[in-house]
Amino acid sequence: MTVLASGSKGNATVIAAGSTRILVDAGMSCRELMKRMAQVGEDPEDLDAILITHEHLDHVAGLSVLARRLKIPVFFTEGTHRAWVRMLTPRTTMSYAKWLETVQREKAERADHAPAHTALMTEIDLAAADDPMEAEGGDGAAAVEAEAPRVKADPAFLPAVEYFRAGHGFSIGEIDVNPFTIPHDAADPCGFVFHARSESIRMAIATDLGYVPPNVKMALRGVDVLLLESNHDLEMLKDGPYPWSVKQRVLSRVGHLSNAACAEFLLRDYDGGAHTIVLGHLSEQNNLPELARLAAEQAIGGRMTLLGNRVLLAAQDMPLEPICL
Ligand SMILES: [Zn+2]
Ligand SMILES: [Zn+2]
Repeated sequence: MTVLASGSKGNATVIAAGSTRILVDAGMSCRELMKRMAQVGEDPEDLDAILITHEHLDHVAGLSVLARRLKIPVFFTEGTHRAWVRMLTPRTTMSYAKWLETVQREKAERADHAPAHTALMTEIDLAAADDPMEAEGGDGAAAVEAEAPRVKADPAFLPAVEYFRAGHGFSIGEIDVNPFTIPHDAADPCGFVFHARSESIRMAIATDLGYVPPNVKMALRGVDVLLLESNHDLEMLKDGPYPWSVKQRVLSRVGHLSNAACAEFLLRDYDGGAHTIVLGHLSEQNNLPELARLAAEQAIGGRMTLLGNRVLLAAQDMPLEPICL
């Protein structure tokens, strides 16, 4: 596992086993993702697929450009894919008030013998236009094929799309992927457990979750490498600069995991069997690496040894050294 970036300004992690390489999230510009892969000795051309946890910008910012450049499939849940497409192709449906205003303005312009213009028609046409991506059926793994240049101009165009569902495992090359639902304010957010079949090694990613529900506790049993969210220090968040509404969102059951909640999981639910635990998605405003580390290390306590339970901190501004087992 190589964490290229982690935090609210961008997330991306490479999971590799044997000859298979998967990029989990593409939350930075394509250029930055390529740069960071070069820094850690990964060749982007070797990537087999991109896997998306959820549609928030810090997880998809470079997705379409990167996938198109590398011509590799992108794996989403159908809900996440639809939400992402919607995000990139905002509807221009008019309110009644705006429609009335437009009609009246056009009428006035006609009365003034001004040259006719077609603003109204254009906007209505846009609103009524069928979205080719939305029309794609939900029959499990559907591939979106590119033919027309019209589709290529679509900001949501991808060379190939594969759908997965939380709770239903699938394989990419030599890696078995088990997606699990996480509580977060996105359409259909997922964490993943990756099983490198030949090595019998399990790696997991669980960031962007408001709390740790039973299904996540179950999924994270028996993993060798765990990337777990330790987003904020509760006191720093409460006293920090965020507006109250944002604080409420972060603290909610569909927000982000605090240092305390992360530590609580490590203390009560974690089985202690991992080689490395990576704390990730740290808030730059409302956390300090030392606080996150202290909380986690106290929770792991005596289980930390030279061979197990090493705690690393993933950073926003630089990749983490590859974790190799
Ligand atoms: Zn995020
Ligand atoms: Zn998110």
